[in-house]
Amino acid sequence: MNEVLDPEIVEDDESSLRPSDFDEYIGQTNLKENLKVFVGAAKLRDESLDHVLLYGPPGLGKTTMSMIIAHEMGTHIKITTGPSIEKTGDLVAILTALEPGDVLFIDEIHRLNKVVEEILYPAMEDFCIDVVIGKEASTRSVRIDLPPFTLVGATTRAGDLSAPLRDRFGIVSKLEYYSEEELTQIIDRTSRVYNIVMDDDAKGELARRSRGTPRIANRLFRRVRDFSQFYGDATITRDRTIEALERLKVDNLGLDDVDHKYLLGIIHRFKGGPVGLEAIAASIGEEPQTLEDVNEPYLLQIGLIKRTPRGRIATAEAYRHLNIEQDYE
Ligand code: ADP
Repeated sequence: MNEVLDPEIVEDDESSLRPSDFDEYIGQTNLKENLKVFVGAAKLRDESLDHVLLYGPPGLGKTTMSMIIAHEMGTHIKITTGPSIEKTGDLVAILTALEPGDVLFIDEIHRLNKVVEEILYPAMEDFCIDVVIGKEASTRSVRIDLPPFTLVGATTRAGDLSAPLRDRFGIVSKLEYYSEEELTQIIDRTSRVYNIVMDDDAKGELARRSRGTPRIANRLFRRVRDFSQFYGDATITRDRTIEALERLKVDNLGLDDVDHKYLLGIIHRFKGGPVGLEAIAASIGEEPQTLEDVNEPYLLQIGLIKRTPRGRIATAEAYRHLNIEQDYE
């Protein structure tokens, strides 16, 4: 994937752009309004918030939302990832260091190993863990009580979560791609944080090419800012934005070379589909997993492909976007 459009590449200075409370967090209205109620009610009862599972494509604001939850609850957050918790001892150390009401954020929670995951069940349900101590014949199990805490799990692949883990989350929510209007507001906020003047139609143009993803919008903003400052513009204009994005090989829908190869592959090699993911991936020399996790969700969202039981098909919209005549046999 074109690096400038890869939603999984995290920028160094993302923290400076993170909204810190519900009101600053743009979009995801349904999730946000419900969380406001759940957080408010938990605070009234003086209890920790129920465990939360956030799922959806990378860069849509899962980490940011978990930080806001901790902020709004008036507690601290501990951030870790599924693959980095290798042994049960690692998780026990994290859990026993939590303070009452803390938020534990586990990113990529679908990648926790099974043994570690099993420790989480009683921790989530009863706020306790059973730890085996001693060696060989003298081993015994000791119960350790934990303070009440809130686990916020994030995943791009909700389907990969085991049922027992999924069932222990009281609040499960999907993050959706952002609308052009919401992304325009995010870009507006970013331009104010960086103290850069950008024309409104430039913000709209950037929003349209950001694949519905705030992380990408912010990254493209920085690159466009580079071009604009380098050429000595007083404000960032729409023309400069278009020029910069064309030089970065981002087309007017936010598609890159891989998206183009993928769509052209379906159209030219498989007569527009239906075709299986593996076959397209092999024909264009890309990883099926990346295509499935990163490219396809966005192409589906903007209606350039459809998934059918027999495979992927390119829609009439895809032909139009690529300027290819559709051949109805
Ligand atoms: P995820 O955890 O889903 O991969 P992040 O929470 O790390 O995504 O968000 C990526 C970046 O996008 C953050 O730096 C944040 O500044 C920005 N961002 C995400 N969601 C929003 C939002 N709703 N409003 C404003 N900025 C956002």
